[in-house]
Amino acid sequence: MTTEAVPETVTAESSTDEDSPRTYRPAVSAISDSALADLLPDELRYRRDQIRRGVFGGDAQGFDQITPLPRRLRERLDATLAFSSISPARVRIADDGTRAFLFQAADGTIFETVQLPSERGSATTVCISSQAGCAMACTFCATGTLGLTRNLSMAEIVDQFLHVRRESPGSAAPDRVVFMGMGEPLANTANVRDAVEALVDPGRGGLGARHVTVSTVGLPAGIEELTRWPWQIGLAISLHAASDDIRATLVPLAKHVNLATLMAASVAYQRATRRRVSYEYTMLRDVNDQVAQARDLARLVDGQTCHVNLIPFNPFPGSVYEAPAAGTTRRFRDELLRRGVAATIRRTRGREIAGACGQLRADGAVWRRRSQSMATPLHAS
Ligand code: SAH
Repeated sequence: MTTEAVPETVTAESSTDEDSPRTYRPAVSAISDSALADLLPDELRYRRDQIRRGVFGGDAQGFDQITPLPRRLRERLDATLAFSSISPARVRIADDGTRAFLFQAADGTIFETVQLPSERGSATTVCISSQAGCAMACTFCATGTLGLTRNLSMAEIVDQFLHVRRESPGSAAPDRVVFMGMGEPLANTANVRDAVEALVDPGRGGLGARHVTVSTVGLPAGIEELTRWPWQIGLAISLHAASDDIRATLVPLAKHVNLATLMAASVAYQRATRRRVSYEYTMLRDVNDQVAQARDLARLVDGQTCHVNLIPFNPFPGSVYEAPAAGTTRRFRDELLRRGVAATIRRTRGREIAGACGQLRADGAVWRRRSQSMATPLHAS
């Protein structure tokens, strides 16, 4: 299932005090119940249930903290499996409560996860990464400047959510996941599918399927595959322009997939699933923010079951774009509403910690400069 190359042995995680390298252990979150039974043939089923509950349900930070288990079993688990496939390197916290986590995988790959306070109530949303870096190279996205390091495994995707949940006091527990962190989820479809399955499984992630959203740059084959997934998850498509010419300057993929093809895939998805699609539209000053372009957009999505989410551009060092004035974005939204298209403006959160849409770079310089709060440093020096 996983596509990354995992080294045979990796150095012990920073949380262990052993000096010798430790043999690579698969992460427990990626182990099916039958595989767990194979690993522990002499343990009774209720013990496996306790392990699952300890990993997915509680706030234990390691096998040694799953206290219902006898000590010998905790030690055995620790020798056989990794409690998590990722370890936190740093956390930054913004004034608005947004938290950006920098994670490190067993092979040293780093990537980011953002936890967002909700607009209403107290539950939070976790914005997770499906890849380290991204190959799509959208011109207005910081992650796009990195290129792709590799796909994240199912465990690395699910463990982002589990880690954030364990770190959240009850009232701030996450109840939504959006695949809007680093990477293009539909370029890593097999692992994202397995991760979604785990996230919506009542015994594992326990999320409502409608509280999980996959956001895609617009790969038609991937959208088609989503119509066959059995869960009622949400789909967001990154549109950003209602004309092929402008879209091609923003999203390199658009040179190969035109809007007619993308709209056909989206409409087929709406028909097959009877669900509403969200279109994301990053507002870029003097590029795609004119009222006439709102009219074109309304025409493009005419008759569809959809919603348009306008995202004011979030700047990052080296970016050439600017956000429009707030009034320009409101006029754009009002034009869509006047033409019968449901539209909202996404509130910007986590900008000052470079944790907003399109700002994720897992970049050392950015981390050092902007870090407001630090957990364990990535490299002790
Ligand atoms: N690869 C997925 C997820 C990307 S992140 C996709 O393309 O949908 C989620 C959204 O943030 C996307 O719509 C993306 O285009 C948008 N985005 C990227 N960079 C941005 C930036 N600098 N400012 C505002 N939105 C941005």
